[in-house]
Amino acid sequence: MFWEHAAVARCRSIFESTMRSRMVAWTAGLGMVGGAVWAVAETKHQLSWGMWSAPPLDEPPAHISFCILRDQIPALPKSKRGPEGRFVLDKRQFPDAEVESPGFSTIWKWRSTCPANPVMSLEEIQRELPVLIPSQEALAHPPADKMQVTWLGHASVLTQWDKWNVLFDPIFSERCSPTQLLGPRRLQAPPLLAHQLPHIDVICISHDHFDHLDLHTAQELAARRPSPIWLVPLGLKSWLQESRVHNVIELDWSDQIEIVDSSGVRREALKLSCLPCQHWCARNLFDRNKTLWASWMCSTPRFSFYFGGDTGYCPMFEKVGRALGSPDVAAIPIGSYGALPEVWFHRPNHMNPEEAVQCHLDLRARRSVAIHWGTWQLTAEHPLEPRQRLQDVCRDRGLGAEAFECLKHGETRCYDHR
Ligand code: ZN
Ligand code: ZN
Repeated sequence: MFWEHAAVARCRSIFESTMRSRMVAWTAGLGMVGGAVWAVAETKHQLSWGMWSAPPLDEPPAHISFCILRDQIPALPKSKRGPEGRFVLDKRQFPDAEVESPGFSTIWKWRSTCPANPVMSLEEIQRELPVLIPSQEALAHPPADKMQVTWLGHASVLTQWDKWNVLFDPIFSERCSPTQLLGPRRLQAPPLLAHQLPHIDVICISHDHFDHLDLHTAQELAARRPSPIWLVPLGLKSWLQESRVHNVIELDWSDQIEIVDSSGVRREALKLSCLPCQHWCARNLFDRNKTLWASWMCSTPRFSFYFGGDTGYCPMFEKVGRALGSPDVAAIPIGSYGALPEVWFHRPNHMNPEEAVQCHLDLRARRSVAIHWGTWQLTAEHPLEPRQRLQDVCRDRGLGAEAFECLKHGETRCYDHR
């Protein structure tokens, strides 16, 4: 009897271990095939870009000269690196930041416990998130005495004033992902494509997450003539140059750059400041915080524009407002704070609408425009919830309806100077 049991148990264990190893082999095999298909698709895409995109320039456009001013904002901290050379947040400057930005195990814990994304019907998306096609006439000829802002979805914003056209975190791809085969898809088509933009003088990038820096968009914009100047936080220049994106200038937090038109066109110098904020970076499992993240302030003597990019709530907003003066218009992120079970993961890195309004008040911004919402479902809060919560908190805190508002996708708004 005992031997019978032993024989059955042995057979079962051999069977199970064989099945296990077959499953492992199948999984590994499928993984390899999937990886190969992905690599071929991406390589094909890269090659097709490389073949028809114009050759890169090594020099900025001839009519532009610039001067980098280092350490110009003593009230704001410089970036800090940890022992491995990765950027870290100093607890004294960012008391609510995570000491360690999320590692693989933390990301896995979030992914395996977060609720499913709410699904919106096509009809609801069309009704609640309409896309306006920006007027080419308005983009080509912005009013001379106003600041013109166009929201292009998520964190992509085009600002135009005093004859300068500055673009922030542009993305025109369908997915914000390492590949266009997988990853979050847009709820709506982008309001316009890269070739429909007016000429662009400067492109500012906040950080390397896929919803802010898209390789295909970057290469398409880099092929335009005259070529734009790219301003990026530390660590991104070599990656962009290897990707055939040239005219890239890297700045650290509290560095400033002054860009001057030397062609004879009369326009005021444009001053751009690279600013600290509370976030992290990664494009794969191994490059976490090897590059820096930043917010930006962009100004001429008449107007100033603050671009928050992607940030958790932190004391820097008040310091920026005091050091650089209150911006005329601020673009402040209000979404991707997550549904309740995942808030623990996002809280240090993304603001909810209540924190976004506090950021608006800390900066003492005259007007603010909401970004980082209603475009890709990156977290499990309902895509329309950030807009509703923003309206509620503005009302509760006694702010006028226009003080901090959500534009429609593709909507253009003009602001008077003070
Ligand atoms: Zn991010
Ligand atoms: Zn983001």
